[in-house]
Amino acid sequence: MDFAEAQKEALSCRKCGPLCQARTKVVFGEGPLNAALFVVGEAPGFNEDREGVPFRGASGMLLDRLLRSVGLGRESVYLTTLVKCKTPEGRPPKPAEINACRPYLLAQLAAVDPRVIVAMGDLASRSLTGRKEAVSRIRGRAIPLDGRYVFPTLSLQRALYTPADRALLVSDFARLPELLSVERPTTYETLNVPRAPGMAAEREPLQPSLW
Ligand code: SF4
Repeated sequence: MDFAEAQKEALSCRKCGPLCQARTKVVFGEGPLNAALFVVGEAPGFNEDREGVPFRGASGMLLDRLLRSVGLGRESVYLTTLVKCKTPEGRPPKPAEINACRPYLLAQLAAVDPRVIVAMGDLASRSLTGRKEAVSRIRGRAIPLDGRYVFPTLSLQRALYTPADRALLVSDFARLPELLSVERPTTYETLNVPRAPGMAAEREPLQPSLW
């Protein structure tokens, strides 16, 4: 499925019953298709659902400030979420819903081909890195995957209510300019390969020269 097909299909998608009923608008995503930075949140919230645009309201303002702090404008970044429809009562999306919506995210990634993906929050981090650790354990690290870096960090929602988390988010974003300026990783080592029982735990695929 290419980007245009994905967008057309998503805008009338009814694959997830409860989400179709809870949503006002499908929030597909927005941004330039040549963006170097691609930000993925969890799901649209109240404001996004009303406006049909990702990262609005208080979360959106915080994201705008974080981007500006590293010299980036919202208009230069591709913004989207794991699922494109608001969830009932703002609950986290279920694995089946994330999987149902995944083809749209993959089409967006294929079209934009960003250098860096910022995965915000536990679900986006797990979904995009294939790793099970909580985002608080792997946040702020550049994980090479499929010729680009996935960069897990805390969710905007969490940072809005906890000043200590907001400070961590600020420090993670401060690393983005350097990460955007380096070459794409040449390793295609996948982090999703099942490991044989008894093998040592997977080593952190860190880029020590970067940080
Ligand atoms: S969340 Fe995604 S897969 Fe589910 S109904 Fe909305 S657009 Fe379709």
